[in-house]
Amino acid sequence: MMIKELSVRTSKRNEFIDITRQVEQAVQGVREGVVTVFVPHTTAAVTINENADPSVVSDILGKLAQLVPEQDNYSHAEGNSDAHIKSSLLGSSLTVIVKDGKLMLGTWQGIYLCEFDGPRTRRVIISLQS
Ligand code: ZN
Repeated sequence: MMIKELSVRTSKRNEFIDITRQVEQAVQGVREGVVTVFVPHTTAAVTINENADPSVVSDILGKLAQLVPEQDNYSHAEGNSDAHIKSSLLGSSLTVIVKDGKLMLGTWQGIYLCEFDGPRTRRVIISLQS
């Protein structure tokens, strides 16, 4: 197993950052395998969705903000409960199959780091099993 780590600087409180290219670089030269992308954070997530039309990401962020408002009757004193909830909704890891050094993503799919309590520097851990 090979483990690599990315450091991703985010610039907004809520933001999706396309990390597809960085993940693809990490699997270069691998004939067949499985890559896991994991964020060791409780207020960030990773997801796969369309990276062709940017309005898809803005619609997802807009709907998440509606579903999980920043202010509500939350108990958590840190004031970022919305970020924790969004992180759990989207999840902290994902798996992609690798073939001939390429991620087997669909034409319109990209891998996003999802920031919900930025700006911060986030760690993204990539493990490859081949
Ligand atoms: Zn918190």
